[in-house]
Amino acid sequence: MGLTTVVTGIGELVTNEPALGPTPLGLVPDAALVVEDGRVVWVGPARETPQADRRIDVGGRAVLPGFVDSHAHLVFAGDRAAEFEARMAGTPYDGGGIASTVRATRAASDDELRASLARLVAEMRAQGTTTVEVKSGYGLTVDDEARTLRLAREVTPETTFLGAHVVPAEYAGRVDAYVELVAGPMLAACAPSARWIDVFCEPASPHAFDGDAARAVLTAGRAAGLGLRVHANQLSAGPGVRLAVELGAASADHCTHLTDADVDALAGGGTVATLLPGVEFSTRSPYPDARRLLDAGATVALATDCNPGSCFTSSMPFCIALAVREMGLAPAEAVWAATAGGAAALRRTDVGRLAVGTRADLAVLDAPTYRHLAYRPGVPLARALEV
Ligand SMILES: [Zn+2]
Repeated sequence: MGLTTVVTGIGELVTNEPALGPTPLGLVPDAALVVEDGRVVWVGPARETPQADRRIDVGGRAVLPGFVDSHAHLVFAGDRAAEFEARMAGTPYDGGGIASTVRATRAASDDELRASLARLVAEMRAQGTTTVEVKSGYGLTVDDEARTLRLAREVTPETTFLGAHVVPAEYAGRVDAYVELVAGPMLAACAPSARWIDVFCEPASPHAFDGDAARAVLTAGRAAGLGLRVHANQLSAGPGVRLAVELGAASADHCTHLTDADVDALAGGGTVATLLPGVEFSTRSPYPDARRLLDAGATVALATDCNPGSCFTSSMPFCIALAVREMGLAPAEAVWAATAGGAAALRRTDVGRLAVGTRADLAVLDAPTYRHLAYRPGVPLARALEV
């Protein structure tokens, strides 16, 4: 038995457990929660709180499961502020700028990459994120992808091999040879440090991969024991979403341009639609239609896609505000997508909700209700609660 801590004075607790309270958020007013050894051991009304060794009173604030950011690219060096500035002046985004991050990342030392990664993870935690997925994809050689994933594994178990991010400059015009490298020696070197494999499936980009190349990479990853995720339908209605559903991927990410067949596939399959509205904000692009996906019956997650090119925000509250303002989600739906939805996209049941046995990953708001996340955009209300 470890030390027990009661978190009390919770004005509104979001549990995402409908058995514990009304709405899909499982809301409990005037709540308390007891934690032992990093796990929730009791949750309920504050007036019924059992004895505990320590007590943290949050003074009427709202508490929710820590955000689950299921899509981020955090291991990189360099800066692309100038590319952002040019984009705001009218230069369209096509993924070509990734090459400059690849050059800077290859040139950086392990300690430089480690320091930058730690800073970004701390920045996320300070905004309420307690689980983050981290992808490789700025090394694009066997050694640089493998070291990226070793560094990522130091901060999260949710590591994703993205050797098929773009075709690196030295393989220009030789996509087939690069796909063979990714699905062969690079995968073998990266699989020990990776839980997932991902591919940027985008026939509309001259830098990314078509459906056949994506299938080759994903099936090789699956044979190596990795779970599947896909960058799908970001720039055009390509084959990515249907490939993700067909192969049983945990998540199809972006889903900006969807046909009716894509929506039907997501609604009928076991693949989560992960929406990344920070990308549309930062590339001045049309937002995905989250309402259409939810109304069809798909499971929707929200994530940041934090990366130095298309979207350099680490803020899940910002993404929630965008989802409500720009994508037709109710505040409750956006909060669910940023917590339980992210957990579903990572096939986790121990995060993204608060019930007996889950991890005690808590976010606290300087606000009385989760509604303030969208109601007060840009205000730093959320932080991870140290228990
Ligand atoms: Zn991404």
